[in-house]
Amino acid sequence: MTTPTRDPAPHPSRPAGGPSVETRAALAWAHGARFLTTATQLDQLPPGDLPEFAFVGRSNAGKSTAINALAQRRQLAFASKTPGRTQHINLFALGPKDEPDAYLADLPGYGYATVERTAKLRWQQVMADYLKIRRNLAGVVLLVDSRLGFTPLDRQLLEFVAPRVTTGEVKLLVLLTKADKLSKREQAAALQGAQDSLADLATEAADVGILLFSAPKRQGLDDLAETVHSWIHRA
Ligand code: GDP
Repeated sequence: MTTPTRDPAPHPSRPAGGPSVETRAALAWAHGARFLTTATQLDQLPPGDLPEFAFVGRSNAGKSTAINALAQRRQLAFASKTPGRTQHINLFALGPKDEPDAYLADLPGYGYATVERTAKLRWQQVMADYLKIRRNLAGVVLLVDSRLGFTPLDRQLLEFVAPRVTTGEVKLLVLLTKADKLSKREQAAALQGAQDSLADLATEAADVGILLFSAPKRQGLDDLAETVHSWIHRA
């Protein structure tokens, strides 16, 4: 089922003006994210012994900013921007220090206009392999610039993972980033556009959500934390 927006209504366990117990637990869990390892190929990743969720998106969509906001760390995801490391998969651990319970995978950003053909083909291979083969993949957070909407590369990426999303094996959350740059009317149009783009994935079994997201305004941040937390802890 496609969930266009998360329920904005007051939650029974949400005290007036404050986050709910669930949100606080989810945020505390996300704040514990720490860098684990980096890999250029799938077989360099640790075995899928823990459930994993992946952040994917066009370069400049706001992926590093969203990961840093989620983890409440200024620099956590920016290591992946170091020249020469942009094609890497960076893995972070979450959960208790001595007993991690999940991995967060930061996948290479795509869509640099200047990237040459061989690099593009390599990107396709890494993403396709990861999204199709990674057994412990519980969910994908796809970041889409709310002003641009879905690009052909975003659609291609969705195609790689679609078979696992339609069966419900892999959950999907689309973050429409930089929502602070849009008017209310434009935000509504962006939501509608995303919903249309995801229509093919909306089966009974599928778990697909869309969120307007703004890092500076913290819009959508609680819902992002709750969603990824629930993927791991309410599987
Ligand atoms: P990445 O390449 O996908 O990791 O993108 P970054 O996280 O580096 O963000 C790209 C640019 O967009 C940076 O200049 C960020 O400051 C900016 N940015 C990211 N998220 C937001 C947002 O929610 N609102 C606004 N206004 N700018 C953002």
